[in-house]
Amino acid sequence: MQLGDQRASGNVEDRRGLGIGGGLGIGGVVVAVIAYFLGFDPGTAINVAEQVAPKHDTREAPKGAPTDEMGQFVAKVLGSTEAVWGKIYQQYRPPTLVLYDGQVRSACGLGQSATGPFYCPGDEKLYIDLGFFRDLQTRFRAPGDFAQAYVIAHEVGHHIQKLNGTFQKVEATRGRISQAETNRISVRMELQADCFAGVWGHHAGTMNQLDSGDIAEALNAATAIGDDRLQKQTQGRVVPESFTHGTSEQRVRWFKHGMDSGRPQDCDTFSSNSL
Ligand SMILES: [Zn+2]
Repeated sequence: MQLGDQRASGNVEDRRGLGIGGGLGIGGVVVAVIAYFLGFDPGTAINVAEQVAPKHDTREAPKGAPTDEMGQFVAKVLGSTEAVWGKIYQQYRPPTLVLYDGQVRSACGLGQSATGPFYCPGDEKLYIDLGFFRDLQTRFRAPGDFAQAYVIAHEVGHHIQKLNGTFQKVEATRGRISQAETNRISVRMELQADCFAGVWGHHAGTMNQLDSGDIAEALNAATAIGDDRLQKQTQGRVVPESFTHGTSEQRVRWFKHGMDSGRPQDCDTFSSNSL
């Protein structure tokens, strides 16, 4: 990527080295639809962690663009998403990106590195442990700066779903539909976030921020983290009903779709008959 001229976003909260904290009133509320990037069950991960974590810790984290290389990269990618979505939506309210290591307290409960990057609609923050970028390279064999940027853009895609009311609609179905149906909705949410990441990629290309190999990097990453691929890796078999993110092929297709079109209106995974 070419981010030299890109303004670094100041909406980065650097919690690295601070441990668990944040002082958010959790009150036992766990939002069910936390859209994790990876195919883990967020409910289990968060509930268990919630019981062992201290309840209050109000140390302030510095906000602004970090100065280290990785922090700068993340802040610039976030800045690029702000430029793109700010142009598409005049009323765009940018999310905060929280960098952490190990564990982090969010309005959605406690997040852990092992669960991968996630977006919490309750506090409108993206949570990213930079260790995941190392995992992308080694464990998932998806190296490259654009692969990392795609992860951020995907989580920003979930923020768009918060702003346009999709999260609220999905939340309203809670408890009234089967687990299988919940998983099917989750897949549509995730594929839409992939498509929104593609929309950002389209405009980043227009802003001359992409190199020739960048799109291949993102497609490679989308392939590496499809539910089918991950399940095969972790369980040795594939169980389609338990998919929450979509197959590798679907993730690639929707990312490409957004990338080609550049229009969020074209990311309607909910009324699409074939995913
Ligand atoms: Zn997601």
